[in-house]
Amino acid sequence: MPKKDIAEFLEEIGGMDVESLVNCVCRHHLSYLGRDYGRTDLFSLYQSLAYTLRDRLVGNWIKTQRSYYNQRAKSVYYLSLEFLTGKSLASNTISLGVEKEVTEVLEKFGVTLDEAEGAEADAGLGNGGLGRLASCFLDSMASLGIPGYGYGIRYEYGIFKQAIENGEQVEAPDDWLHSGNPWEFNRKGFMFTVRLYGREEQYTHEDGSVRHRWADSAKVMAVPVDMLIPGYRNGNVINMRLWEAQPARRFNFDLFNSGDYIRSMEDAVRSQTISKVLYPNDRLSEGRELRLVQQYFFVSATIQDMMRRFMKLKLDFSELPNRAVVQLNETHPAIAIPELMRILIDEHMLNWDVAWRICRRTFAYTNHTVMPEALETWPLDMMRKVLPRHVSIIFEINRRFMEDVKSRFPGDENRLKRMSIVEDSDSPQVRMAWLAVVGSFIVNGVSALHGELIKKSIFQDFVEMYPGRFTSVTNGITPRRWLRQCNQPLSELITEKIGEDWVTDLAQLRKLEPLAEDPEFQDRWYKCKLKEKQRLVEYARSEYGLYLPADWMYDVHVKRIHEYKRQLLNVLHAVTLYCRLKKDPNSVTVPRLKIFAGKAAPGYFIAKRIIRLINSVGAVVNSDSAVNHKLRIAFMPNYRVSQAERIIPATDLSEQISLAGTEASGTGNMKFALNGALTIGTLDGANIEIMEEVGREHMFIFGMDADEVGARRHNGYNPSEIASTDQELAEALHYIGDGTFSEGDRELFRPILDTLFNGGDQYMVLADYRSYVDAQDRVDELWMDCKKWLRSSILNTAGSGHFSSDRAIMDYARNIWGVRPMKMDK
Ligand SMILES: *Cc1c(COP(=O)(O)O)cnc(C)c1O
Repeated sequence: MPKKDIAEFLEEIGGMDVESLVNCVCRHHLSYLGRDYGRTDLFSLYQSLAYTLRDRLVGNWIKTQRSYYNQRAKSVYYLSLEFLTGKSLASNTISLGVEKEVTEVLEKFGVTLDEAEGAEADAGLGNGGLGRLASCFLDSMASLGIPGYGYGIRYEYGIFKQAIENGEQVEAPDDWLHSGNPWEFNRKGFMFTVRLYGREEQYTHEDGSVRHRWADSAKVMAVPVDMLIPGYRNGNVINMRLWEAQPARRFNFDLFNSGDYIRSMEDAVRSQTISKVLYPNDRLSEGRELRLVQQYFFVSATIQDMMRRFMKLKLDFSELPNRAVVQLNETHPAIAIPELMRILIDEHMLNWDVAWRICRRTFAYTNHTVMPEALETWPLDMMRKVLPRHVSIIFEINRRFMEDVKSRFPGDENRLKRMSIVEDSDSPQVRMAWLAVVGSFIVNGVSALHGELIKKSIFQDFVEMYPGRFTSVTNGITPRRWLRQCNQPLSELITEKIGEDWVTDLAQLRKLEPLAEDPEFQDRWYKCKLKEKQRLVEYARSEYGLYLPADWMYDVHVKRIHEYKRQLLNVLHAVTLYCRLKKDPNSVTVPRLKIFAGKAAPGYFIAKRIIRLINSVGAVVNSDSAVNHKLRIAFMPNYRVSQAERIIPATDLSEQISLAGTEASGTGNMKFALNGALTIGTLDGANIEIMEEVGREHMFIFGMDADEVGARRHNGYNPSEIASTDQELAEALHYIGDGTFSEGDRELFRPILDTLFNGGDQYMVLADYRSYVDAQDRVDELWMDCKKWLRSSILNTAGSGHFSSDRAIMDYARNIWGVRPMKMDK
């Protein structure tokens, strides 16, 4: 063992000056990649640079882990089935504070940082907002020094790649690990066994008590693969530990010896499928067995890892909630609750009441949606097959819970039915949200509105039972990635005016307010936006062969394609502009580029048809010279983090037009406002809080609010009546139906019209149409007054401080987790 301290080693390998960095890049080229560094290509240069930076993260990572241990810090376990990390090169470069140096290093190879990052694949281990939130939270935990870990699955295939062929979405596998991932550490030496299937067995323990155990289970191995997440220039590095499934034994030796080589391999192949692919559904619970297996697989490995660390401290189990807090990102990891019970009762022989008190103080649950199709339930039979012991623990949790309910609300049989964790029907289901509420000390919504809505809707009975258990923490986004990194011109301008502290203290953006009317500042603000538009034009051309006009208004609607997000409402506006222009080419004043992007779940028929509609309308509009001088439509394929980073800084108008009461928070809305886009939006999710911070007069608020939506539903909503009384709406719908955008095919978009007229227009697109189009007319009007627009744009950025994920994490830390930022050991 060398007597050297880590610090000394690091000094040897980890110089931050240009020369050390160049040497390190060349050394990795030789010794890792086995290549002559005189002949680098872009990808191998990216790889060796990534290894070079990883070298510089490792030491800080070890120091951070030692500090946790030495200070006996209470740690956060952030459990999420999804992390939408995106790329790491630019982000890690900035966090390490070596942007200038790295840029210079790359210059020596004739490459820009943008180009080098072009060689990196997005880590797309999530569907959308929920996964991106988890990644923003890790960035903030690292930057604030909140002790914690992110835990998830290392999917071999992330969210599918979307291509557009003949206007339709086509999916392809996302083989993001194809050429390796230079950021990760595979830690085969630290794997855990995860059990599945089998049966529950009763036995008499040596102390005479009757106990249970899990017998005849199948086994798979969970291998930890770590990705290091650096804080912003603070020497902190936290860990995102993603589990990879491996067979428990490579060969079944009995079968192998009997000569059945192929059968012996089947077991191995089956095990590996567990971490093979991310389920591509956003807000839909599918109830597939493999998905349940994925959930338990990562939860089991994570809880074992947590218990391993806790056992090192040699404390009483009752101390666990003082050392660890588990945050459940949605109910996907809620099986952790019965899993911890099982470990405490079956393996450590605690009695039920003691174990339950520990459990209840350890878990906190974040709800992300009230939409019924997203609430997870598992068929009892399926769960019993996969996790027999857990089912019987859930029954016992439920039995006791039902006793509590009975004693609080005697004789209220309906209430018992509603609140039972196991739904009693012909095909009984386990309700994961109920399990999560009962097993957690606190439940939070993700915006002020959503926090109130869950109390009035899905969790109403539980609020009456546990009034203090519900709260909300408004989501946030990391200002490092979503301004500092993605919008260089604006970042530099802001730093020039108010200093650089805003990067870690976003509330400081308020200091821009006095500059909002300064003509010189406005001019520079405008030029930043223009630069980002030019950058997007170049990106769209080289990546997708799309030709965008650079000096138009950029009206942007990018997010998952979902009926509740109402891309259809935006299309109706586009068709309305088309109709106006066809009648009078001068009827529209502002040249407008509508940009759409977003993936539809592969099995979501209507969402895919909406993509087709966007592209079809686009094809007609873009090629019609009577129209295309004022309106163009671009659908950017394969929306993902790295694409969002290009689109958002170039945006003038941010479309946040979900039906009020359906978007729990939204985080896209925050990214746009931070980058100076004006929002056209409903009073939904965090839009409301953005309005409170930025000021209603600097946004285009339209449509019904959540109460009005409720009232309208209650009083009987008739979409046909609306369509027949609004001339422009009727016309737009007519064109969609009559084949104008589908080469005469009147069937193609009929399913979309059917959702409106025969499906009851669930998301009330027609009810909000007039108000939306009027708001869009106000957009044009303000755009014509350049100074006023720029002032509002500046004030949007100035008012976005509240939406930093640093604020959100401090809120969790103080009000939920009971943890504090940690000073690192020297
Ligand atoms: C921020 C983000 C989302 C979430 O967007 P919403 O508009 O809040 O739905 C989804 N996907 C990506 C790639 C993102 O960066």
